[in-house]
Amino acid sequence: MTRLLIKGGTVVSSRGAEPADVLIEGNTILRVAAGIADQAAEVLDARGLHLLPGVLDSHVHFREPGLTHKEDLASGSRACAAGGVTSFFDMPNTRPAGTTRALIAEKKALAAGKSLVNYNFFIGAARGNLDELNAAKNLPGIKVFLGSSTGGLLIDDDVLLEGIFSQGSRLIAVHAEDEAVMREAASRVSSPTVALSERYRRRLHVLHLSSAEETVFLAEHRGPLVSAEATPHHLLLSGPEAYERLGTLAQTNPPIREARHGQALWKALLAGIIQCVATDHAPHTLEEKRRTYPESPSGVPGVETALPLMLDQAARGRCSVSQVAAWMSENPARLLGAQGKGRIEAGMDADLALVDLKKSKRVGEGGYQTKCGWSPYDGMRLTGWPVATIVGGRVVWREGTFDLTVRGTEIKIV
Ligand SMILES: [Zn+2]
Repeated sequence: MTRLLIKGGTVVSSRGAEPADVLIEGNTILRVAAGIADQAAEVLDARGLHLLPGVLDSHVHFREPGLTHKEDLASGSRACAAGGVTSFFDMPNTRPAGTTRALIAEKKALAAGKSLVNYNFFIGAARGNLDELNAAKNLPGIKVFLGSSTGGLLIDDDVLLEGIFSQGSRLIAVHAEDEAVMREAASRVSSPTVALSERYRRRLHVLHLSSAEETVFLAEHRGPLVSAEATPHHLLLSGPEAYERLGTLAQTNPPIREARHGQALWKALLAGIIQCVATDHAPHTLEEKRRTYPESPSGVPGVETALPLMLDQAARGRCSVSQVAAWMSENPARLLGAQGKGRIEAGMDADLALVDLKKSKRVGEGGYQTKCGWSPYDGMRLTGWPVATIVGGRVVWREGTFDLTVRGTEIKIV
C-alpha cells in the first residue's frame, strides 16, 4: 500500500493546534506524532502550513441529474477539492428529484464515476414516498422542503409532516422557515418541526439559519436532538450593501438580511447554538442570475470559497482556526454520522486540507472550478487559503493542479 508522510506541519483539531507529522497508509491515517520517519513513504513538506481535517459540506446542490448546465458532480467536486472540501452531502432537488432509493442509487453511481471527493445524498420527502424514505440505506437523512421551493418537493401539510417524523429513525433536515409563515411574513421561527422532533425524539438538522429570531428560538430549544448550520453568505454578507454591489447575484433563499442578523448568527455559532458552517452551494449561470427579479433564481455558489472565507475570519480574530475545524469538519461529521471523517487521528480516513494561514489572495484569481464561473466574493482579498487537498490518502489538488484520476468514495453513515 502506498504511504504518504505529511511532515513538519501543524495539526488542527477542535481542541487546538500542535506540530505533528501525519503518516498515511492507503486511505487511512496510520499515525499522528512528532518526528515520524518512514523511508518508504512519499513526503509532503508541510513546514509553515496547517493541516485541517478535510471540510465536510453538509449542504450542496450539484444539480445532477437534470440541471447540469449549472453544475455537475465532476465540476462541483473539483470546486470542492480546490476549496479544501473533501466530502459533500448533496440535496435532492435535482431533476428528477431524489425521492426514491433507485434515484439515490443512480446519483451514487454517477458520483462514483466522476466525483473527486467523497459524497452522499439526502433523500427528499414528497407526497407518498414514506416507504422509500425509511427503506433507503446509507444516507445522511431526509430533506423536507418547507420553505418556498421546488419541483414537487414542498411539504406544507402538517399531517404529512407528522407522518414523516413519527415513522423511521433517520435524521430530518429542514429549513427553519415555514411556507405558511413566509406567506404571512410573520415570525419566521414558529416552525412546527422542532416540536415534532421533541415529540417523536427524532434528530432534526436545521439548514441555513439566517435570522436573529431563529437563533433565539434555537437557543430556547437547545438539546441533543436539534442541530443547525449557517452559511458563509449569511454570516458575512448583509443588506443593503450586498444588494447594491451584487444586485440579483446576492439573491438567495433564505435572503441575505441586514447586518444585525449576521451578528446574531456569529454569536450563536460562537456559543454552540449553531454547530456547523455549510455552504448551501446553489449555482446558477450568470445569464440566469442576471434576469430581472423575480425571474432571477435564488442561490450562490460556495464550496470553493467557504474555507478561505472562514480562515480569513480567523485571521481577523473573529474566531480561531480550531473553531473553523470544529464547524466545518468535526461537528458535521459527528452530527451527520459520517464514519471515519472529521478528525486527524490514527484510524480515521485520510481526508485532509493543507492550508497556508498567511497566504493572501483575491477570490477568483486563477478562475473558478464551479461550472457557473462566478462568486459573490469575487475580487475580495482573503488571508488563509488551502494549498493542497487530500482525499482517501491521495493528493487530489495542489496549488491549482488536479490529479483527475482520484475518486472519492461513498461516505458511510453510522
Ligand atoms: Zn439548499
